[in-house]
Amino acid sequence: MGLGFTMCVRSCFQSSCLQWAWRTAFLKHIQRRHQGSHRWTHLGGSTYRAVIFDMGGVLIPSPGRVAAEWEVQNRIPSGTILKALMEGGENGPWMRFMRAEITAEGFLREFGRLCSEMSKTSVPVDSFFSLLTSERVAKQFPVMTEAITQIRAKGLQTAVLSNNFYLPNQKSFLPLDRKQFDVVVESCVEGICKPDPRIYKLCLERLGLQPSESIFLDDLGPNVKAAASLGIHTIKVNDPETAVKELEALLGFTLRLGVPNTQPVRKTMEIPKDSLKKYLKDLLGIQTTGPLELLQFDHGQSNPTYYISLANRDLVLRKKPPGTLLPSAHAIEREFSVVGTPFYVMEYCPGLIYKDPSLPGLEPSHRRAIYTAMNTVLCKIHSVDPQAVGLEDYGKQGAYIPRQVRTWVKQYRASETSTIPAMERLIEWLPLHLPHQQRTTLVHGDFRLDNLVFHPEKPEVLAVLDWELSTLGDPLIDVAYSCLAHYLPSSFPVLRGQASSAHAEQTGKLTEFVSNLAWDFAVKEGFRVFKEMPFKNPLTRSCHTWARSQSQWYPIGTRSYSSVPEASPAHASRGGLVISPESLSPPVRELYHRLKRFMEQHVYPAEPELQSHQASAARWSPSPLIEDLKEKAKAEGLWNLFLPLEADPEKKYGAGLTNVEYAHLCELMGTSLYAPEICNCSAPDTGNMELLVRYGTEAQKARWLMPLLEGKARSCFAMTEPQVASSDATNIEASIREEDSFYVINGHKWWITGILDPRCQLCVFMGKTDPHAPRHRQQSVLLVPMDTPGIKIIRPLTVYGLEDAPGGHGEVRFEHVHVPKENMVLGPGRGFEIAQGRLGPGRIHHCMRLIGFSERALALMKARIQPPTAEGREQERGLRRPCFHWSCRVKSRVAFGKPLVEQGTVLADIAQSRVEIEQARLLVLRAAHVMDLAGNKAAALDIAMIKMVAPSMASRVIDRAIQAFGAAGLSSDYPLAQFFTWARALRFADGPDEVHRATVAKLELKHRI
Ligand SMILES: Cc1cc2nc3c(=O)[nH]c(=O)nc-3n(C[C@H](O)[C@H](O)[C@H](O)COP(=O)(O)OP(=O)(O)OC[C@H]3O[C@@H](n4cnc5c(N)ncnc54)[C@H](O)[C@@H]3O)c2cc1C
Repeated sequence: MGLGFTMCVRSCFQSSCLQWAWRTAFLKHIQRRHQGSHRWTHLGGSTYRAVIFDMGGVLIPSPGRVAAEWEVQNRIPSGTILKALMEGGENGPWMRFMRAEITAEGFLREFGRLCSEMSKTSVPVDSFFSLLTSERVAKQFPVMTEAITQIRAKGLQTAVLSNNFYLPNQKSFLPLDRKQFDVVVESCVEGICKPDPRIYKLCLERLGLQPSESIFLDDLGPNVKAAASLGIHTIKVNDPETAVKELEALLGFTLRLGVPNTQPVRKTMEIPKDSLKKYLKDLLGIQTTGPLELLQFDHGQSNPTYYISLANRDLVLRKKPPGTLLPSAHAIEREFSVVGTPFYVMEYCPGLIYKDPSLPGLEPSHRRAIYTAMNTVLCKIHSVDPQAVGLEDYGKQGAYIPRQVRTWVKQYRASETSTIPAMERLIEWLPLHLPHQQRTTLVHGDFRLDNLVFHPEKPEVLAVLDWELSTLGDPLIDVAYSCLAHYLPSSFPVLRGQASSAHAEQTGKLTEFVSNLAWDFAVKEGFRVFKEMPFKNPLTRSCHTWARSQSQWYPIGTRSYSSVPEASPAHASRGGLVISPESLSPPVRELYHRLKRFMEQHVYPAEPELQSHQASAARWSPSPLIEDLKEKAKAEGLWNLFLPLEADPEKKYGAGLTNVEYAHLCELMGTSLYAPEICNCSAPDTGNMELLVRYGTEAQKARWLMPLLEGKARSCFAMTEPQVASSDATNIEASIREEDSFYVINGHKWWITGILDPRCQLCVFMGKTDPHAPRHRQQSVLLVPMDTPGIKIIRPLTVYGLEDAPGGHGEVRFEHVHVPKENMVLGPGRGFEIAQGRLGPGRIHHCMRLIGFSERALALMKARIQPPTAEGREQERGLRRPCFHWSCRVKSRVAFGKPLVEQGTVLADIAQSRVEIEQARLLVLRAAHVMDLAGNKAAALDIAMIKMVAPSMASRVIDRAIQAFGAAGLSSDYPLAQFFTWARALRFADGPDEVHRATVAKLELKHRI
């Protein structure tokens, strides 16, 4: 008994030695042997919830230390650099540089002058700056990487709070893997430097913690002092190694371990050492009087796992957990059962275990290599012939997935404490949607990155752990399981065994969350794979093939302002086309109602003031009221709702709504011209942000996406040119030419929405890099900082006389504008592809808002033509407090002796408008639905159809409302005139109607002949 069950792949599968230029980079990595932040474990009793690190001097070498070495090498009087850095204190060049009040060039000029004055010799500060920021010097201390990993493994947060600066390329200097930190606060971004208490408070606020819940490490006394005076626990860092020891003492757990991923045996998990030692000595025939060393591995909560060292033998013992178990949840006893508790022992295979599946701290190419090695070993497991290795009876043949689903349900039922509707929905849905074709191979059953032991120097799997769920089954289950980490939010607390343990009662929330996630995956994300398939015939309405019954595809719902009857909760969110907000899933429905309340309480009442700002002399500056409302919307979670789940599956940047879900919210925002900006959901920023999410590099995202997502910056998109028919993007003439490390752009653009806004920091520019390339490979997209010299705004254009301040629509010349090469998106020649991607969801958002315009116009019209209510009459006579709801501002009318509502033609107009709105809404939702299920490409026809329909429908509905208002409808007392102007403009701005008609006709003819 005992050692027989050593499932070490080293003996089963000899991984081929990959030929990599790998070693050097990997060696760097093995210094952090306990790689991988495992955020899935408990806090280990510590009262602290975060550790905040300074950067220079704590995580990377301090500028002072780098300067000392550099001064020796360059024969500069010792201490010059440090003295010059401190010169002027708060207002010296260094501190102003840290607050981004001066550029790198400006700083180096002043700093160089200071150094030279002080040392009475010429000091090449550029060379010092290059060294300071070089990859060779600016490297994170391995001991800190290791500590951060351990801290996060215990579930604590980590942050960087650094006095930092922008490099000449406008990127901040941060030679750290941002993924290691929950929060990064940089002085140059915030405009505040340590020791200013505000920046510490900002960091704590972003961590969501009180001062006493965090520990702060810095190498500078004043910075440490300021933190301590706020009540933060502090460590003054003189040497990183010593600092880590101090940190260990404060946290109460070890940050450096002899055997990776182990800790002293937990009190409740102790095993009798003496009897174990005797058993192993007998079994292995060992003659020793030495001690048996016993440690416990961090992970493996489902079956506690121990490291044993006895007489130079390194072993691993795995045993059954204590407590009552669910049927077949921990099938360890089928292996070996001795010394009381069932257990087995195996050989210890030293190597690396990557606990955080996102592999923080590794280069992308290394991550790819690790994942490839993981997949390779999985293929090898699935290629084993069970018969040839005598495992034909290792499990039942066939129907593995249905059996798995039955087992999960059985286990869930056994631990169920109350009904969770989301789980019930999944339990009902899953068995009906299982794959029909199934293969049978050896399956691992729990295949994930942290069950693999990797070679310390190359991307090779040495051992596969945790085989107790292995059996004969469908290999897809291993594939699905190994992809799970990709879909779970990175902060998800996966405590293995939890759902099936005695603690299941407390995990109801987690279970509900997981079932919602699984549901989302099944009905939305799961269909992403279909996008890769050739879409043969869009008119076969592929979306319907995934439907259940027709009634479930069209759950009847309600919209407060429509005639559709109330939805039955039983029909809510069946994964079909959700045509009413009341049929949205509960969290999204709640979001919808929160938005509705926000619109009623804050947005509609602010409209008169916002409108008069737009007509005032101050109109080219943003209204302070808008900024105020943006903060309110952010605080209420009504922020960045636009990014489709498909583009942001981990909900890293947005609310993770599907296009259909967003359609309902976007329509609601569309009822006010100001709401989209207030909720950071307005064009052209939304399209630009989506472009950055989809195609931007991490550096581009950090530089541009983050400020846009935070609502601190705005952006524009420059494609249209006055001299060419721009509805055909291949006509664009602006040139993008390479010159040294820059691209130089020249061109004339117009109708560039938002370019006049003083907050506009980014212009997403489309031009031609190669006029001789094939037609659709000539264009490229560049990210142009708006403060680059050579951008000359000629004039604001007007739409029917409206300027649309402060963003406006500008005519602009780009004259020899130099843009760093790293600002190219995707690469030269990819512009057309990007523009298509950018305009997909963005264009349908306009349609969603147009439905909102139309609903509001119709509601205003109805209020106008009906006799006033008793309350309305009292308000008019001053007998009642005025109501600020927008509909109450409408004065109703009587003409020729009857209220307008009794005039037949007005009634016909209302009926016509209602019908047209409902038709267009269904088409918008349909397009959104096909985008969700089959992707933007497959939805091309639906998108073109709604773009053809929505602007002209809105124009007609708004026009009828204007007519019912009489001349007042044309004034700016009501939003109708502006709605009308926008609806008309959108018959161009989103591409002319004719182009959409041509697309629809082309697709129609293609598939009907
Ligand atoms: C309010 C507003 C905001 C805008 N914002 C931006 C912006 O931020 N950035 C930007 O780059 N652009 C912007 N535009 C410009 C907009 O994208 C263009 O106006 C649009 O693409 C049409 O290009 P064009 O004006 O050059 O018209 P043209 O291409 O010259 O077309 C003129 C007319 O020719 C006809 N036509 C064209 N193609 C066809 C066809 N295939 N079949 C039949 N007839 C056809 C149509 O009647 C069309 O209206 C905006 C426009 C407006 C009105």
